[in-house]
Amino acid sequence: MYFDSHAHLNLAIFDKELPTIVSKLKEEKIYLVNAGTCYLTSEKAIELAKIEENFWSAVGLHPAHTFKNLVDKEEIDSQDNFSLPESFDDKFIGLLKNDKVVAIGETGLDYSYLKNFSDEEKEKLQEKQREEFQKQIKASQESGLPLIIHSREVYTECLLILEKLSFKGTGVFHFFSGTIKEAKEILKRGFYLGFSGIITYDNERAKNLEEVIKETPLEKILIETDCPYAAPKPYRGQKNYPFYVQEVARKIAQIKNQSLEKIEYQTFNNALNFFKIKM
Ligand SMILES: [Zn+2]
Repeated sequence: MYFDSHAHLNLAIFDKELPTIVSKLKEEKIYLVNAGTCYLTSEKAIELAKIEENFWSAVGLHPAHTFKNLVDKEEIDSQDNFSLPESFDDKFIGLLKNDKVVAIGETGLDYSYLKNFSDEEKEKLQEKQREEFQKQIKASQESGLPLIIHSREVYTECLLILEKLSFKGTGVFHFFSGTIKEAKEILKRGFYLGFSGIITYDNERAKNLEEVIKETPLEKILIETDCPYAAPKPYRGQKNYPFYVQEVARKIAQIKNQSLEKIEYQTFNNALNFFKIKM
């Protein structure tokens, strides 16, 4: 039994093959949380969790949806209004009361989307990302739901914002790809690290992440696919699926010199604890 702590079967790219995927997931006993990226995908994650016993959902606004995003068209979440900026408003808060909503996210900061904007524009859009992140941190505080944090290369800034708001809850830095120093700062504050398929690649970043994994207590590790993105080896470059989460576990087992069964069991229980899921 594996738990994919961060999937996006709520994106339109999976619509056609969803029935096949669902039955295979049942067969392989894979459980998962679909993370919201905007209002529509948050709603869809909830819908899927209502139908599928092994699915849970997170409600959130991804930093890429906080501005008129014309660059990442190929990452289209499904709907035509993808490029319209959204705000984490009452509409989102209203979704939180649904059963099987187990987290707020994904939310955070990602300035890599803003490369093509002027400096002045960039500053405004960064500020908007910060505002939306803060709203979701507050929603996490108020609801008691953990945070799924998306941060690209700005871990320190994310931590500072959490600190400024005296965040007392729990959270995971999903798709962790930072340095060992950043990992230590995150762990010191009690947060979890989410590891994805990128740890299986043959590159410098994966080598650094190997060191991070060695230093991360097993109880603080969540595994994820972030499907459809970033498929692990040997599927790299292809569409990613929750079944491939096993490859992430296999790599962690190898790095930590533990059995695959041990990693499978521990990461499964970590996810249940983190999302407060009772089975
Ligand atoms: Zn994601």
